[in-house]
Amino acid sequence: MATPEDRTTYMDHNATTPTDPRVVEAMLPFFSEAYGNPSSPYALAQETRQAVEWARGTVADALSCDPAEVVFTSGGSESDNIAIKGVALSKLEGRGHIVTSSVEHHAVLHTCEYLRDKLGFDVTFLPVSPGGLVDPVDVSRALRDDTILISIMYANNETGTVQPLEEIGRIARERDVPFHTDAVQAIGKIPVDVQTLGATFLAASAHKFYGPKGVGVLYVRKGARFHPLSHGGNHERGVRPGTENVAGIVGLAKALELAVDDMPRESERLSKLTQRLVSGVVDGIPDVSLNGDPASGIPGTANIAFHYVEGESVVLALDMEGFAVSTGSACTTDSADPSHVLSAMGVAPNVAQGSVRFGLGRSNTEEDVERLLSVLPGIVERLRAMSPLTPRKDS
Ligand SMILES: *Cc1c(COP(=O)(O)O)cnc(C)c1O
Repeated sequence: MATPEDRTTYMDHNATTPTDPRVVEAMLPFFSEAYGNPSSPYALAQETRQAVEWARGTVADALSCDPAEVVFTSGGSESDNIAIKGVALSKLEGRGHIVTSSVEHHAVLHTCEYLRDKLGFDVTFLPVSPGGLVDPVDVSRALRDDTILISIMYANNETGTVQPLEEIGRIARERDVPFHTDAVQAIGKIPVDVQTLGATFLAASAHKFYGPKGVGVLYVRKGARFHPLSHGGNHERGVRPGTENVAGIVGLAKALELAVDDMPRESERLSKLTQRLVSGVVDGIPDVSLNGDPASGIPGTANIAFHYVEGESVVLALDMEGFAVSTGSACTTDSADPSHVLSAMGVAPNVAQGSVRFGLGRSNTEEDVERLLSVLPGIVERLRAMSPLTPRKDS
């Protein structure tokens, strides 16, 4: 029987990734024979406890931190919420000021808006360059005596742009302000080291690096001052109570281990594939432009504007040809507004509406890219012929 996977060439790895079969295999025993509650005293539970601690150590190695600084959560969104709201809750009395950027994932953006609108915190949403970069000088200038947190993402989910985080981390340390980074799109794709970053908190999510959905990590630097959002048992040092998602946690660690092992080879392969995709589009289709900073991006991501057409129409036409791509953030596909990320970069609304994100990953081959390039010019030409936005030569 043909399954959707047989028919679809998946090029939306920034939205999610399939769980690697080696990861699934590592997880399976923890659904059946190794089911003990890690907090229980008997031998059956010791096995699950050891598995969780193996996972913690593996993640700590990957991030260059101490295992005691690794907290398992339900994913990237929860990790962002624990860090940002956790710091804010510890400052409720004096309130305070948060510095973030205008291109953050909604898990950060909406959390900061909530703290501003409902709890009375002040938030600065920093602008970005046309390439999507935050200027560290702007971070420095935005800091005030009452700034309680800097939260700047590592790599953007829509454009792949990597922020100058080491410089921002240095400013945070010099001014003694806690620093959170949403590293969900960076982990497993580029080397991430919390020591050189000087981060206080860092968020990651397994399903973005070929692990299972619904499990994530929050790195919490020793001594960080914040309140937990949930109260209950003493799991995860009380930062995130609740019986551990043992299978998920093992899957996350296994997936991270595999991604880190593969990284040098895979990132080079994906960079080449992405270059081929971009040059093929630029050479083969008139009136296109690239969104993002070409000098600073995670391997695999290309965000391309097809002028005079709707990105949504390109996505649907490619779906009919068996390609899964996206107009950007998977969480906003039901909204007609142009992407907040592209808007913040100064991309004109009609150009932003025509933008498509290609997220290449492990399953993609040169053949996939060539096949995409063989159908894309025809699709865009057909859509432009029907589009009222297309300039007519004869008018
Ligand atoms: C996917 C994503 C998230 C959310 O992670 P979940 O595990 O799906 O909650 C947060 N930030 C960025 C940059 C992402 O790409």
